[in-house]
Amino acid sequence: MQQPPNHHALPEADQPAWLLDLARLLGPVGLYVPGLNASEHDLQPHEQDWRGRYRGKALALARPASTEEVAAVVHACATHGVSIVPQGGNTGLVGGGIPDGSGQQMVLSLQRMNRVLAVDPANLSMSVQAGCTLAQVQEAAHAHGLLFPLSLAAEGTCTIGGNLATNAGGTQVLRYGTARELCLGLEVVTAKGEVWSGLSALRKNNTGYDLRDLFIGSEGTLGVITAASLKLFPRPASQSAALVACASLDACVALLQVTRRALDAQLTAFEVMARAPVALVERHLPDIAKVAKGLNAPEWTVLLEASLPQAHETDEALQTLLAQAISQGTALNATLSQSKAQHRAMWALREAIPMAEKAEGLMVKHDIGVPTSKVPAFVREAQAALAQAHPGHQLVCFGHLGDGNLHFNVGAPAGQDAKAFVQRHEAGINELVYDVVAKFEGTISAEHGIGQLKRDELAKRQSAVAMALMRSIKQALDPLNTMNPGRVL
Ligand code: FAD
Repeated sequence: MQQPPNHHALPEADQPAWLLDLARLLGPVGLYVPGLNASEHDLQPHEQDWRGRYRGKALALARPASTEEVAAVVHACATHGVSIVPQGGNTGLVGGGIPDGSGQQMVLSLQRMNRVLAVDPANLSMSVQAGCTLAQVQEAAHAHGLLFPLSLAAEGTCTIGGNLATNAGGTQVLRYGTARELCLGLEVVTAKGEVWSGLSALRKNNTGYDLRDLFIGSEGTLGVITAASLKLFPRPASQSAALVACASLDACVALLQVTRRALDAQLTAFEVMARAPVALVERHLPDIAKVAKGLNAPEWTVLLEASLPQAHETDEALQTLLAQAISQGTALNATLSQSKAQHRAMWALREAIPMAEKAEGLMVKHDIGVPTSKVPAFVREAQAALAQAHPGHQLVCFGHLGDGNLHFNVGAPAGQDAKAFVQRHEAGINELVYDVVAKFEGTISAEHGIGQLKRDELAKRQSAVAMALMRSIKQALDPLNTMNPGRVL
């Protein structure tokens, strides 16, 4: 929404004076108030989530263009007891950026704050406003011959502020870490509407409690991230990807071990897809699935990527490694990318899975993490428990095996209504899956966060000590509970 929406002729007197003051301060595209300068329709894209699970109703949509304007919005809302739901690209998968149904919460979108502030190649760092899309940040680094390695399928839409607020993971964590590890400093508007300028580009800075790390992953519940200072890396000169067919998840883990030892930091991604998610892509996005045809629909497909500083080295290294894996029986067969187009096509297959799942219908979704060595046993055990409780269920299992993080999604048996299945069985399936996660000392949220979706589960499964510490942090930083209330805690 770049243009001012249609004006609807309700008298200004119907709006509270503070909201009218704020509207005047932020200008015609800075604050959309239904009935004042916007219709309810204009706010709708900000009131529902990507998956179509959550739908709320906002009091208004603030679209500040500067940190000072964010501070003004937060201050006005805090003064008038209005809670704020920060929003970036609205690609979150746990309902964290969607207002509740009261019509009393302010959605604060960072999308107009989308400037790259500075790139410092000698310090391998850059600073950006929070509303830059992830793709924009990657492109700005690329323009300087450098790499910002965070990468996920939603990168054209999600924002760096949202990535940091959720501590996003994605496909390159194995080599470069999560959003947290890629962040050097932050600028944050606190719950009171003050500005904390922590936009440092230092790699070492031991001066008291780490405020940056407190805000990263806090999902908009402690403050609004308005800018970030980020780490950059040399751009690899050569990259190769391969699709590898494996007979079992144990074989995938064995292949991971072999490739890690051989390539070390040059192994930049190691993703797995069971047969079901690849079949879903075949059904809903058949052109994208063509790249996997030669593998003959194995139980498991690995997508691995190697990146090297010198050109034309990766193909040979990978070819040798994969030939060995096939001769030793770890892999069944493999296709090595022969061109940049084929490399992209391999990634497109992996990244199309969420879209194919969306086309298939609702599922009970999990974003679990367990130590990589325990992933096969976890899947066996959870699958057996599910088969007993829900015979015929669909299991769509894929994810970042290199990080021990799987998307373990459960759908209705063929012929049953997907939505009704989720409504009826979600709580029971969650209980069952999370019990197995607990047995393997794993996590119920490896990368998507807690939001609304897993709030009660967090309270149930975290220790009392951890919950008490989190509540006291929330109380200290947001005593009025106006920052994204009801999310995380
Ligand atoms: P939003 O959805 O707008 O918000 C997410 C949360 O952050 C909310 O709680 C919101 O209040 C808060 N927030 C947003 N901006 C700010 C800010 N500036 N200050 C404070 N709080 C803020 N996630 C992964 O980790 N790895 C993946 O591989 C991955 N793949 C995905 C693939 C698809 C197709 C989709 C749709 C999503 C995927 N996601 C993935 C989830 C999502 O993209 C990430 O959570 C992303 O980091 C959210 O960014 P956003 O800008 O869209 O945030």
